[in-house]
Amino acid sequence: MQYRHRHLLGIEGLTPPEIILLLDQSERFVEQNRRADKKQALLNGRTIIILFFESSTRTRTSFELAGKRLGADVITMSIATSSVRKGETLIDTAMTLNAMHPDVLVVRHPASGAVKLLSEKVNCAVINGGDGSHEHPTQALLDALTIRRRMGRLSGLKVAICGDILHSRVARSNIHLLTTMGAQVRVVAPRTLLPSAVERLGVEVYHDMAQGLAGCDIVMMLRLQTERMQGNFVPSIREYFHFFGLTYEKLAEASDEALIMHPGPMNRGVEIDSVVADDYGRSVIREQVEMGVAVRMACLEILTRNLPRSDTPNL
Ligand code: ASP
Repeated sequence: MQYRHRHLLGIEGLTPPEIILLLDQSERFVEQNRRADKKQALLNGRTIIILFFESSTRTRTSFELAGKRLGADVITMSIATSSVRKGETLIDTAMTLNAMHPDVLVVRHPASGAVKLLSEKVNCAVINGGDGSHEHPTQALLDALTIRRRMGRLSGLKVAICGDILHSRVARSNIHLLTTMGAQVRVVAPRTLLPSAVERLGVEVYHDMAQGLAGCDIVMMLRLQTERMQGNFVPSIREYFHFFGLTYEKLAEASDEALIMHPGPMNRGVEIDSVVADDYGRSVIREQVEMGVAVRMACLEILTRNLPRSDTPNL
């Protein structure tokens, strides 16, 4: 099985064997990351540039670690001190970096579609580290790896994705991945936080947590993406937590073994009760972070397999 694409821009359009390839390869790196000696030479000589136009803790750090553990040279561009501050356009910045012959660019941008646009202008492989409210493919892959390791499968599981679906790229990528792999996906949110015609993505829609969580194997909570909101989408945080915040009372509706997931950053007391988030018997939030490094190693390794091996200048 081969990954046929030059880039990883989204989960939409990936086939089940391609998703399985990425997950199986990630699995190989999990053990390596638990050893004292975590370094390999698979990407020796390769250059990775991480270009984030939005803030990030987990994604940026784990891409950096992933590249370094594979032996690549990794540069993280700080937008605060780059020429973007001097008015350089996204495409000009991309062309400038392209001229330095990177092998992989990892890009996060607040505009949906910006990473795809950029990928059309450069010679290297591009990984989408999150574009607006569109896609965050590596998050969906690490979520899937976490679920598959705990539950042994994805197919047939009942997954409830709860909260701000409208603004969430994590929700979109997860919906594509989980439905492609045969899971039954529900979205649970107030009407104001759902995209119109969301059921066309193959999900069941609920506006009530007790009904939405009933019998679920996975409860995935999402943050209110206030940075993407113009105006008020919920009457008050207090009311939102009352109806949609995950508490033990609401969780009681899910299956007894249901796993609690959250991509982070968490807003305790808004979308999730602190005690539920810290219930390490059921909450796999820290495991998700661990899987993030392995998944990003797999993505970097698989994409560089498809890069030309010759020394022909690519400009
Ligand atoms: N870290 C995730 C993202 O970048 C989720 C979030 O920010 O709420 O989309």
